[in-house]
Amino acid sequence: MFDYTPCPGLLQGRVILITGAGDGIGRACALSCAAHGASVVLVGRTLSKLETVYDQIEAAGHPQPAICPLNLETAIEKDYNDLADQLFDTFGKLDGLVHNAALLGPRTLMDSVKTDAWLQLMQVNVNAPFVLTKAMMPLLRAAEDASVVFVSSSVGRKGRAYWGPYAVSKFAIEGLMQVLADEQDGTSAIRANSINPGATRTAMRAKAYPSEAPESNPEPADIMPVFLYLLGADSKHINGQALDAQ
Ligand code: NDP
Repeated sequence: MFDYTPCPGLLQGRVILITGAGDGIGRACALSCAAHGASVVLVGRTLSKLETVYDQIEAAGHPQPAICPLNLETAIEKDYNDLADQLFDTFGKLDGLVHNAALLGPRTLMDSVKTDAWLQLMQVNVNAPFVLTKAMMPLLRAAEDASVVFVSSSVGRKGRAYWGPYAVSKFAIEGLMQVLADEQDGTSAIRANSINPGATRTAMRAKAYPSEAPESNPEPADIMPVFLYLLGADSKHINGQALDAQ
């Protein structure tokens, strides 16, 4: 596991937006960021799941979160700009942006992938993070020290047969991360990095490996150290890096 011990108030005063915050790794990230003092902006497509996370954060007495239901498959640029306006009015800045939501999509021979499924997956896994990042840049610039985190995968760093558009989409976000990181290097206080979570006990993992015993993998909460590291001030000097959670 990534070796980092966060101090309790690591993210005090920070505002952190997480996509896919209603379940799996995104949910754990939201709970963990809130527990370390951040005001979290919960973005996802299933309102009831976001509300459950919201209630958990409130009940624990952590900073009040914000709920922003958004379906990354159907959202248009105006929706992202409206979200940015809303966040400007409420917080005036954004210190962390975690691109976590993703689809697994079809895992089959490349020539068997249906074009519609390819386009749907690219919309959620690649186009949405691009437009969301673009909309959030003014808010990220308004923060003293801002961190953009792209949640990647081992198949986004080395291609693997049958992983289809999912693998290609993860290569694309690694590319988006690298270009953004290089552009901001030395010109702003924004850094961008990626995390490969490694095998983690979530619905997506169960779908990808139906015959695997779920207990053989760590829980999302177990892989949070690297997320906290990249979202807090201890990683100020880290930019353009591809990190592993495990
Ligand atoms: P889950 O499927 O458990 O959770 C994904 C989250 O993304 C859900 O909250 C889901 O919402 C949300 N989401 C999916 N589509 C949309 C959409 N169109 N609009 C808004 N939100 C959406 O996956 P994991 O937690 O396992 O994965 C999180 C990240 O980690 C992904 O980027 C994945 O590729 C990566 N990853 C995971 C690994 C693992 O072993 N688990 C390994 C390597 C990488 P809803 O709850 O409504 O379905």
